[in-house]
Amino acid sequence: MISNLKLASLEGREKTIIKVGNVQIGKDFALIAGPCTVESEEQMLETAKAVKKAGANMLRGGAFKPRTSPYAFQGLGLKGLKILKDVGEKTGLPVVSEVLDTKDVSWVCEYVDVLQIGARNMQNFSLLKEVGKVGKPVLLKRGMFSTFAEWLNCAEYILNEGNPNVILCERGIRSFETYTRNTLDLSAVPVMRELTHLPIIIDPSHGTGRASLIPSMCLAAVAAGADGLMLEVHYKPEEATSDKDQTLGPKEFEDLAIKMRKLREFIQHI
Ligand code: PEP
Ligand code: MN
Repeated sequence: MISNLKLASLEGREKTIIKVGNVQIGKDFALIAGPCTVESEEQMLETAKAVKKAGANMLRGGAFKPRTSPYAFQGLGLKGLKILKDVGEKTGLPVVSEVLDTKDVSWVCEYVDVLQIGARNMQNFSLLKEVGKVGKPVLLKRGMFSTFAEWLNCAEYILNEGNPNVILCERGIRSFETYTRNTLDLSAVPVMRELTHLPIIIDPSHGTGRASLIPSMCLAAVAAGADGLMLEVHYKPEEATSDKDQTLGPKEFEDLAIKMRKLREFIQHI
């Protein structure tokens, strides 16, 4: 048990199920796929069609990018959100995108189905309070230097403002290892089952930083009982403006989605 949690703790509560379009996160498996960054109409539409065909039920794409360097592409902003919304409607996929700034929360809600709080902003308490005041579900990534207790307290900030729809997303933490971009902590799945009623999904793209490692980590996340996955997929991964080393192409994503479906069927019977 973690002290101070009034709303996020499990304590006899039923598991939270969050309805996003036709997907009931916490019950159905949420397969969220799409590029790191929204780059163009064509890129989004071609990627969305491919991931939908392969079985994704939600589309991701960043319009505001928290880049390490101020000189790196910062995202298309409003133009990117318009593309994302339009492509989501055309393909019937609900959309997820990151919001970086408190002043953008209310208007970004008009374009997305789920607001993402990135790892770098997990403890931005003003931002958490702001997304807690709106009606959209929030995907809260684990900060790269954060404990489970700190993460759940951040979920508590959102719940405490009256928004009950928080989806936790493990995306790897910083360790001494340098081969992988982060160290993906899959124990987050059983730990969150013990501590909270909130759904937990896994992001092996940022968790590993390497496309070659993603299929194994996805299968492991499914086997661990995750409520879903968030994956970076681009119709031309080699041309992705950000995170191309961890981005899957349509064929790799489709092959992986088939394996995940088979594994999910299998584990339902054990
Ligand atoms: C992202 O999902 O695009 C992203 C920036 O992830 P994170 O906040 O986990 O680094
Ligand atoms: Mn990314």
